[in-house]
Amino acid sequence: MENVVIIGTGCAGLTSAIYTARANLKPLVLTGTMPGGLLTTTSIVENFPGFPDGIDGYELMTRMQKQAEKFGARVRFGTVESVKQIEGGLELSVDGEPVKTRTLIVASGAGHKHLHVPGEIELEKKGVTYCATCDGALPMFRNKALVVVGGGDSACEEATYLTRFASTVYLIHRRDTLRASRIMAERTLANPKIKPVWDSVVTEVTDVATDTVTGVKLKNLKTGEESHLPCAGLFVAIGHVPNTAIFKGFLDLHENGYFKTTGTVTTNVPGVFVAGDCVDAVYRQAITAAGLGCSAAIEAERYLAALNS
Ligand code: NAP
Repeated sequence: MENVVIIGTGCAGLTSAIYTARANLKPLVLTGTMPGGLLTTTSIVENFPGFPDGIDGYELMTRMQKQAEKFGARVRFGTVESVKQIEGGLELSVDGEPVKTRTLIVASGAGHKHLHVPGEIELEKKGVTYCATCDGALPMFRNKALVVVGGGDSACEEATYLTRFASTVYLIHRRDTLRASRIMAERTLANPKIKPVWDSVVTEVTDVATDTVTGVKLKNLKTGEESHLPCAGLFVAIGHVPNTAIFKGFLDLHENGYFKTTGTVTTNVPGVFVAGDCVDAVYRQAITAAGLGCSAAIEAERYLAALNS
């Protein structure tokens, strides 16, 4: 039986791994379907303390994993399908194989939120994408008009990144002020290649018939006016949904899908702790995820110490 299994290799999971590994607990860390988590899809991270010149998101996560492995963490590719309580701990099903553990840290992160408009699913990877860093440089987007939807830091970051490739980036936001942090908002609006389209939503992605993105249908929420904006790509950056579905019925969830805790990281099941974007609907920063990962590791250590005393 494992001492600690950690689900997730984002900032929360890998910080838990560093702490539990340094406590000599030899954690087993399962990557899930996105090794390194959402930060690996970001370009430069400018607000993680200790990196005055910023650090590439992928590099930051690679370094965290290296640090965890240096102290004895075992990082393994694997996706957890279910979890149940057993005598003395928990049993997970990982890609069909049972894994037993005394404690579990769930740092399963979050995925991209979808618009749920006609054409979005049909044209995914054919011009509709959720990650500018992953897809922005594709030939299909070069020197073309592109659309980014959203008004938060992610949308601003995506729009700014896309100006490297696009002729024009239209930033579609449903209100007339950005939610993004001031520095990001100012930088975005000052970019001559970015054209904001305020008070507007995308109602449809065209053109399913030709199997390629030719534009988006827009509706102005103030005037009701409808229009068609030609573009070669739609980048959706409207926030995230927590990856908690498989724990429904086992761990308590809030209505919005985020884990409900009994303390900072403790849950309704003894020995199960939660950390990072799957539990934090408010701050959702790399550094706060890392902080929660540290808290979860310390709670797991204390729980195991109490079991052994
Ligand atoms: P967010 O802050 O939740 O912003 C989501 C944006 O999408 C909002 O502007 C929201 O509009 C809009 N939106 C939501 N649902 C929509 C819908 N169905 N249709 C149209 N628009 C919709 O999400 P985020 O930008 O992904 O940021 C998440 C967290 O990560 C934040 O805490 C952010 O600070 C952080 N982050 C930080 C950085 C950085 O510092 N480098 C980079 C990326 C993200 P409303 O404004 O009207 O609600």
